Amino acid sequence: MRLLILCLTLFSISFVFAEPVINIDSDKSTITDFKLGYFIDDSAKLKFEDIDSMEFKEGKNRDTLGADVKNVWVKIKLFNATSKNQTLFLHQDLAYTIFKLEYFELNSSDNSINKKVISAYSPDAKEQLHGSDAIFKFMLHPQESKTIYVHQTTTAYHFYNYSIFSEKESIEYLIYEKVDAVLLIGLLLALALYNFLIFLSSRYKEYLYYTLYLVSSTLWIFYMYGSMAHYIQIYGEVSFRFNFGLMFNPIFLALFIQAIFNTKIAYKREHWFLNSIITILLLNVIFALVNFSLALQFLSLTLNYAMIVFLGIAISIYLKGNKIIKIFLFAHMFYVVFNLYALLFYMGMVDFNYISSHGIGIGIAIEALILSYLVSYKFKIMEQEKEESRIKQMDLRLLATTDPMTKLYNRRYFAEVSDSIITLSKRKKEQLSVIMIDIDEFKNVNDSYGHQVGDDVIITLADKLRESQRESDIICRYGDDEFVVLLCDSSLEATVDVAQKIRKLVESSIISLPSSEDFKFTISMGVAQVDLDNETNVEAALKRADDALYEAKEQGRNRVCT
Ligand code: GH3
Ligand code: MG
Repeated sequence: MRLLILCLTLFSISFVFAEPVINIDSDKSTITDFKLGYFIDDSAKLKFEDIDSMEFKEGKNRDTLGADVKNVWVKIKLFNATSKNQTLFLHQDLAYTIFKLEYFELNSSDNSINKKVISAYSPDAKEQLHGSDAIFKFMLHPQESKTIYVHQTTTAYHFYNYSIFSEKESIEYLIYEKVDAVLLIGLLLALALYNFLIFLSSRYKEYLYYTLYLVSSTLWIFYMYGSMAHYIQIYGEVSFRFNFGLMFNPIFLALFIQAIFNTKIAYKREHWFLNSIITILLLNVIFALVNFSLALQFLSLTLNYAMIVFLGIAISIYLKGNKIIKIFLFAHMFYVVFNLYALLFYMGMVDFNYISSHGIGIGIAIEALILSYLVSYKFKIMEQEKEESRIKQMDLRLLATTDPMTKLYNRRYFAEVSDSIITLSKRKKEQLSVIMIDIDEFKNVNDSYGHQVGDDVIITLADKLRESQRESDIICRYGDDEFVVLLCDSSLEATVDVAQKIRKLVESSIISLPSSEDFKFTISMGVAQVDLDNETNVEAALKRADDALYEAKEQGRNRVCT
């Protein structure tokens, strides 16, 4: 019997000592790391009167109990080891998402002396909560013990984040918490605004999708990490709806990837998979309009599907030779790693820490910031496209204005340009002349040596004309073996001199034949001056030059006539 009493005593002592007690041993009592007891009430029926007899498990002040748990009793035991009264503030950091918090304060004789209810879903949540925190104030006399029970009811994941502060520290904590999230939100919003402005000016839809992706991420981060509750005091049902941000986030990311990699044309299979993300998430959004809580439970499944598909299509596009997708792959890997880490935390398999509790947000933010590099890559593509179209246009213009064989201007361009030169010469009161050139006996060249040699003769003549050209002269292949030179600021006499120079240059040039024979050719020329007082185009002068050319042929060729 004695032994039994001894055993029972020892058992009860060990039971008492097993319960974690927080020792308050100084006035500066910031306690952010402590042990507590918790009891999961799956029945959701237990009252405060029933709870004392339940067996509490030991837990930590910051923890998650996963998505299935909705009803939890938390037991916090304290002892004031100082010689002063201690007024303390128990903070629940994540109170803005918690459906209901009931506080029960028990003195050392386990008599309930105080009770308080705080609910983010109540109409006067604004009065009950302090920013994102629920605060329960209590007092401990010197050497006094107390027990605080908190009954937590949640709608989505079950987590808690308790801290105990003195009054001064409680106020400071309220001022400085959530600054990190706000800085991140500011950064993401600035990026969103910047990209939206680029969209407005460029009308490239990549920028719009990227903006919407950033905005949806930011709204969710704003809600999820308590900044919204902290700064603008939106709680309960309304703030809960900001989970829409997370539902839309992969939709805009998929649209962005489709647009920037032109998957519809270039990567059809990957395009289909991206469409499947968009469809599934849109269905979830529509379902959320009917039953938001249930849609939120599907959301983790759909998000994991999206995460895997994004990874798969990125690898696939990379393997097909697109190197730029590496940027997305790199960015998405951050999302995957942080997301998985957070998932383990939500499943209760990883301890609470800053990264595990903010994993999804950190993953989204890093991904979004790295993707801004991918967006800037679009600039490069745009520049390349512009350059290509510029070159194409230049090619087209060249094709329309020049003769492909000699690269001299063609007759059409000559007509165009000669009109404006006449106007210019009139204004400058300068003389304007033309030389009409024709190769002598060119048919014979073709007949004797073949068309290829004929072409070489034409090209040689073009080169000689270019050699003797002044900057302001316009040379044109006018017909088969006919060329025209328009000479600005040149009198008839001066033009004849130029013509003679050309004639001599051609006369002395040698054409080498494939048979290693050489031969020479000559040209005949007619020169005329434009009558700037009476003529508005070059036609009449060309006619006179042609007549003079005929004269030169008549007189025996290889000569200049006027
Ligand atoms: P003339 O001294 O009276 O001018 O005699 P010609 O033999 O040069 O007579 P004409 O100027 O009428 O001859 C033009 C010839 O040029 C006709 C055509 O066979 C030839 N021809 C026209 N275009 C080309 C070309 O691009 N390449 C070559 N090889 N021959 C051409
Ligand atoms: Mg000829």
